[in-house]
Amino acid sequence: MLDVLLEFLPFYAVAYGINVALYFATGAVLVAIQNRHPERRIQQNRRGEKRMWTEIRQSVVSLTVTAGCLAGGVFASVKGWTFVAPLPLTWWSAILMFAVSVVAFDAWFYWGHRLMHTRWLYRFHAEHHRSVAPTVWSTYSDDLVDAFVMQSYYLWAVFILPIPVEVLIAHRLVDHFNGTIGHSGFEFYASPFVRRPSPMVCVTFHDRHHSRFRYNFANFFSVWDRLCGTLDPGYDTDVEEAERSAATSTASSARDV
Ligand SMILES: [Zn+2]
Ligand SMILES: [Zn+2]
Repeated sequence: MLDVLLEFLPFYAVAYGINVALYFATGAVLVAIQNRHPERRIQQNRRGEKRMWTEIRQSVVSLTVTAGCLAGGVFASVKGWTFVAPLPLTWWSAILMFAVSVVAFDAWFYWGHRLMHTRWLYRFHAEHHRSVAPTVWSTYSDDLVDAFVMQSYYLWAVFILPIPVEVLIAHRLVDHFNGTIGHSGFEFYASPFVRRPSPMVCVTFHDRHHSRFRYNFANFFSVWDRLCGTLDPGYDTDVEEAERSAATSTASSARDV
């Protein structure tokens, strides 16, 4: 048992180190970009960055759970403990399993998140909702139980999906960037590609979950919210509005040049 634990430790240390390093690096780069575009702030009357240090403290703690889930999944797969063997890594298996994993995680996230909003479990999710105007630092600012419920996907997915560990890690990386951008509070991605009838979303999607609370529970796609009637009724029109104001500000800055 001790042998297994000692073997697991380097996996865990690397996963935690990379997660924390990426958390700070991604946040710093996005803030530098945002500072040049104050007009892109979604909630113009709120300053979510007032909570920055509280969120950073909470994130560094909750990433211990997130890293543990990923390291646990990778370790279980490498040790051959899973119910299905991973497919050999090829271009087609990578693309196929990445697509399957993103769709599976989005469903897990949607239903897990709906569950966290129930009367019984909300106390574990309340910490994350202290951020009404989320920022790049809010993504992992959550309770340890909350982090485990959402991130345990990376632990159990390897047991039932024939996913190569490289693809699992790539999915987690994409989820990190997607999550951090989704919490960034500044909209740079409004386009017809992220509103009806497209299943894709932009920053406004999860930002509305924090500011309006009852809507937009999914992670990567808007499909589950559209199917289950939990999409913010103003989402599609708000994105159109953001497209128009982005076009106006681009036109006026072109005139100023
Ligand atoms: Zn929530
Ligand atoms: Zn959030």
